[in-house]
This record gives sequence, structure tokens and C-alpha cells, in this order.
Amino acid sequence: MLSNKKKYIVNGNSGIKAQIQFADQKQEFNKRPTKIGRRSLSRSISQSSTDSYSSAASYTDSSDDETSPRDKQQKNSKGSSDFCVKNIKQAEFGRREIEIAEQEMPALMALRKRAQGEKPLAGAKIVGCTHITAQTAVLMETLGALGAQCRWAACNIYSTLNEVAAALAESGFPVFAWKGESEDDFWWCIDRCVNVEGWQPNMILDDGGDLTHWIYKKYPNMFKKIKGIVEESVTGVHRLYQLSKAGKLCVPAMNVNDSVTKQKFDNLYCCRESILDGLKRTTDMMFGGKQVVVCGYGEVGKGCCAALKAMGSIVYVTEIDPICALQACMDGFRLVKLNEVIRQVDIVITCTGNKNVVTREHLDRMKNSCIVCNMGHSNTEIDVASLRTPELTWERVRSQVDHVIWPDGKRIVLLAEGRLLNLSCSTVPTFVLSITATTQALALIELYNAPEGRYKQDVYLLPKKMDEYVASLHLPTFDAHLTELTDEQAKYLGLNKNGPFKPNYYRCLGFPRKRKPG
Ligand code: NAD
Repeated sequence: MLSNKKKYIVNGNSGIKAQIQFADQKQEFNKRPTKIGRRSLSRSISQSSTDSYSSAASYTDSSDDETSPRDKQQKNSKGSSDFCVKNIKQAEFGRREIEIAEQEMPALMALRKRAQGEKPLAGAKIVGCTHITAQTAVLMETLGALGAQCRWAACNIYSTLNEVAAALAESGFPVFAWKGESEDDFWWCIDRCVNVEGWQPNMILDDGGDLTHWIYKKYPNMFKKIKGIVEESVTGVHRLYQLSKAGKLCVPAMNVNDSVTKQKFDNLYCCRESILDGLKRTTDMMFGGKQVVVCGYGEVGKGCCAALKAMGSIVYVTEIDPICALQACMDGFRLVKLNEVIRQVDIVITCTGNKNVVTREHLDRMKNSCIVCNMGHSNTEIDVASLRTPELTWERVRSQVDHVIWPDGKRIVLLAEGRLLNLSCSTVPTFVLSITATTQALALIELYNAPEGRYKQDVYLLPKKMDEYVASLHLPTFDAHLTELTDEQAKYLGLNKNGPFKPNYYRCLGFPRKRKPG
């Protein structure tokens, strides 16, 4: 039981640095596009948009309402107009979505209960830029219950659930987001979160680094008051390491992406649970007896293979790393080169994080009706560009499903144009997001409450003890009973009975990482 503020604070550890440049932003926020322009600009802003998860479905979207939310005058029932959402009248639907998500987010709900009376985030002014989904809403309302004030924008122009954004606005959260923002809208929304009279953020919660970048670019002085940045995505974390390396990071930052509770759960379980959903929704296919090749046997690949095997598919794996390759063999999968099976397989799935894993040559050799899709970070794994040649015909048969047809009539089924299948075409499990969201909440609490000097202007991994705490908060869902070390055992292993139970570099024997200990 957390009885006082200090118990939220866990000691930090050392930072790790990496190097990637901020991408040049293409358009300034204050240039309003025309209606047509808005539509044509409707696409992902940064690679970060594909780093993390969102529900693809929106239940109350009305395609006949073409008015930009920026052109609407809306007020919530308390008279506030400090928000910009598609339609505030959808709030009731959104509230139901949030309540459903709460059922599967036990740790955040537990944090709210445990915090009763005490407010570890009292005085925190958090500006956030994440997917705006029911799960994010549960996180935001938890941060509110812990004492924080929040202003929020979307990190992805497509992933906002309009009804959820409406519910948040109705509850008094200044939310600036809607599904189908233009690029100009995207930056406008971020700016409305940050550039507000009489309110200045002192914490940043980012997913992809766009918000952080915006503040660096437009309002660098704000960093004088900002106590820290919590970043979730691969891309955003790379950007932070690059800033750190250049000596330009002016506040401490938490790398949530590389925390065990994200890596071990998001990548593996999320993909295990969503790969079949994405394939089924787009193709209605049956999995039993189908031949599938999965490229890459990291965490994502392991999740995909496990799900497909359980459905009776015949699964082949390709790998470049002998360790992961050996794991694939010992898990009962045939390790092959893509060329060896490309003519016979029914489905090709990439999960490598690499580029050009599936080339035009592979695509030429696939059999008729072969399904091709990607579960990796970006759309570089399948050489989709090579399919845009005059002799091939593209037919959009469903949303996110293209048939690419060869002159002899052969067609392949390309899903989501080679972008992340589960993000584009399915929902992802709330419980997994709960783990990540709890990690984000604890990282915010830790950075906000850390005494002067604990964290420097660098990027930090979450302390192991905090990871363990996040995991322990999710155990009651399973009625799981954790064994406690005896004094004798603790002494024998050289551990504190209350943890941490593993060193910071520990991941899990099942999923070896190539990273340095943090
Ligand atoms: P990982 O590093 O654990 O696994 C990737 C594997 O691919 C490695 O074992 C590597 O050796 C192998 N590989 C690299 N190039 C290859 C090639 N040419 N052929 C065959 N194998 C190759 O990474 P991960 O955690 O499994 O993530 C994989 C990708 O999925 C990343 O891009 C990550 O950002 C993304 N990701 C997606 C989701 C999702 O929901 N779809 C979730 C988390 C991560």
C-alpha cells in the first residue's frame, strides 16, 4: 500500500545515448489549408505514428459532417470551450468506451484508489501528445485523480476516437484532437495545448517526439519550468538520445519504450493477440492448415508465430540472428530462407524492423492470392514502391486491402499498404496498454517528485523496481499468488525481499535483447 508521496519515487539509473536527427517538419501550423487541401494532407505526420497503438474503430463517426472542428463553436455542459473535438455531443458514447476500458486497466484504477487523499502529481501541469483512445482517457483521468492538470493533443492524425475525445472534453480536459486531422490541424492542435495564456506545462508526456520537438522549436523558454519528459515510442526515444548526444537535452527524460514492462508485453502479447484479428478483419481467412512465413523471430515474430501455430497454421520462420533462429527451431518452427518457401506460402508476415525484407522479386514469385503484410515498425519491410509499375494493376477491394494484379491474372493481397497491420486494421488489447499506461504514469510521478540532482539532462530507463511494481499491480486480475522470498533465500540470492529481483539489464531468457544494460 502506498502511504505517502515518497513511496511513488524509485531511484533512477544511468542514461544511454543514441543518435538520430529530428526530421524537418514540412508545414507550419498557421497556414490553413482549403477543404481539399485538408484531405490531401491527411496522413501520418511522423514515423512515430506507427510506434504505438490505437483502436482503429470509431463507433460514432459521421461521414456527412465535413465541417472542420476548428470552424465549430462548441461548449461542454459546464460552458467551457477550451477544447476542439469533432462533436461534443458524442460525449456519452465516449464515456461508455472509457468505462469499458477501465475494466481492463486494473493498475491505473488501483493507482487512483491508492492515491486517495494524497496527490503525488499535485501541481503537475502535463501536456500530452498520444493516441487519443479510451485507454489514454483512463490514463488522463488517472493523472487528473493524482492531482495533475492535463492538456492533450493526438500524436496520430487517424487514431483519435472522436467520442472519447468528446467525453474527455465534456469532463473538463482541454483536448484538441479529431480523427482525420490534416497536417496543419495536427500542429495547430499541439500548439493549442502548449500556447495558452496563464498556463504553462511542467511535464511532457509524448509519443513520437512531435510535441517535444514543437516546444523546442517554438517555445524553448518553456523548458525552464519543465521538470521532465516521458517518451513512449521508439522514434521519440531516438530523438531524445540524439538531443542528449548533441548536448541539447535540457531536462531529464524517461525512456518508457525500453522498459521491460513495455518490451516484454507490448511487443509480444499485443502482437500475439492482434495478428489474427488484423488478418481476419481484412481477409476473412481461415488459418488452419495455411502455410505462413514469418520474417523475424524477435518479440513481435514470436507473438505472431505462437498465435498462428495455435490456429493450426504451418509456420515457417526466417531469421538472420542464429540465437533467435535457434529459438525458432526449438519452438518447433522450420527455419528457412524466404526464397525457399516463397512460391508455396499463403501468407507472408514481416516483423524485423528492417527494410526490403520482401522484395519485388519475392512478390513476383508468390502464388496467386498470397497475403502480404507487415507487423514491424514502419512500412519499409515490404518493397511496396516496387509494385507501383505500369504493368501491375491495383484494385482497392476493401478499406486497407489492395489486390495487386499481374498481367497473367495472378493477384496478391496487400494489407495496409505494408504499414503495421494490427495498428491499421484491428484493435489491440486494453490490458496490454494498461501496462504501458501505468508505466507512463509512474514515470511521470517519478520525474515530477524526484529530488534535485537525481536526474540530470539525460535519457533514463525506468528503474527495475518500478517495472516490478507495474507488473505486481496487474497480478490480482489473474488471482495470481506471488511467492515471497524467505529471509534465508533472500540472503542466499543477495536480494532485498521487496525487490528489485533482477538487475536492470535483465530482460528474459526467452527474448534476448541486444541493448546495453541501462
Ligand atoms: P526484435 O529486434 O526483437 O526482433 C526483430 C528480429 O528480426 C530480430 O531477431 C532480427 O534478428 C530479425 N531480422 C532483422 N532483419 C532480418 C531479415 N532481413 N530477415 C529475417 N529476420 C531479420 O524486435 P521486435 O520487438 O520483435 O520488433 C520488431 C518490429 O516490430 C520493430 O520494428 C518494432 O518497432 C515493431 N513493433 C510492432 C508492434 C506491433 O504492434 N505491430 C509492437 C511492438 C513493436
